[in-house]
Amino acid sequence: MAGIYIHIPFCKSKCGYCGFYSLPSTKLKDRFLEALKQEIVQRKDYLSPSPVCCVANATPKAINTIYFGGGTPSLLDTNEIGDLLHLINTTYLVANEPEITLEANPDTLSLEYLEDLRNLGINRLSIGIQSFFDNDLQYLGRKHNAEHARQCLDWAKQVGFENISIDLIYGLPTSNAEQWNRNLDIFFSYNLPHLSAYALTLEPNAILTKQIELGKAQPINEDDALRDYEILCSRAAENSYLHYEISNFCRRGMHSKHNASYWFGTPYLGLGPSAHSFDGASRQWNVSNVEDYCDALLSPDRNREAYPPVDKALKEKELLSPEQQYDEYVMLRLRTHWGIDLKWMKKNMGERFSTYCEQHAQPLIAQSRLSQTREFLYLNDAQMLFADGVAEELFWE
Ligand code: SF4
Repeated sequence: MAGIYIHIPFCKSKCGYCGFYSLPSTKLKDRFLEALKQEIVQRKDYLSPSPVCCVANATPKAINTIYFGGGTPSLLDTNEIGDLLHLINTTYLVANEPEITLEANPDTLSLEYLEDLRNLGINRLSIGIQSFFDNDLQYLGRKHNAEHARQCLDWAKQVGFENISIDLIYGLPTSNAEQWNRNLDIFFSYNLPHLSAYALTLEPNAILTKQIELGKAQPINEDDALRDYEILCSRAAENSYLHYEISNFCRRGMHSKHNASYWFGTPYLGLGPSAHSFDGASRQWNVSNVEDYCDALLSPDRNREAYPPVDKALKEKELLSPEQQYDEYVMLRLRTHWGIDLKWMKKNMGERFSTYCEQHAQPLIAQSRLSQTREFLYLNDAQMLFADGVAEELFWE
């Protein structure tokens, strides 16, 4: 099992709260797509197991999930998406019926576009709605309005999408408990299988952060986020949604398979600027700049043989030590309802790690900051918000 993530680094404009890498223009789109196709081809062996002794051509891992993230992948036209999918299908071993997700923003969607996506085989949509209220959307600097957000959901259902997720943001100073409840009412009324809900956070370089500092935008209040998180958890449970990760809720069995692979240590290949990859033992990530990325993959170079272009698109690579692998497992799994599996840890990482983890968990359990059922250590709804602090206390010294 393996996954492919494709980062599309363009947006129509920059949202006020955004801390992701993306350019507020599509000027470089054609050159970027050319470079991306080069990277797709050049990294075709990344997910193949290393050849063992005389096994010259070890079987590559089958791709079960393909994820177009960004940025705004729905700024690509459907021919461009189709070309990328075709190249992936002809270059990699893709499993039958892979989960293929596309992140989309409402201001880029139309009925025809959604129909074409469906016909291309995209079978999961993640729509950045953020709020069903215009005052929230204006505060966040989003380009769509609430009416169009609802229209997009109607269209997506009309053309046959069943696996639809939406993003919502809570803890907004333009909202209150009543408005957040109404946002959730609207979400539940669509009977969608998945919700990603995030507390508004202020990223250091985001426009909104500067506006707040200058007194030009309303400040945010952590208590509002806590209040909304509690409402979210209880309303999701009442409506039979599983809280399977700090920010993610789903109908049973409808979790994002692609994102779950990050938490389960499944190898994945990240393509495009700033994309991260993991082959089971090491992590690597690409340069975060579209121009540098394109130059690395497309510029003629006399040293091409010695330094393959794909290596120049890489910014860094790190081999994870057993201790780093332990820390990463603890950090990722505590964010999920699956929690830390001590039996698995003992078998796959060794007894010194499982014993260490269990011993360091005891004071946290006594303080009601961590829960344990048989061999699983996990966080309940109330504890999950503090996952990072709990993980730090379980990290290897
Ligand atoms: S659409 Fe998403 S990636 Fe683009 S600017 Fe807005 S928040 Fe950032």
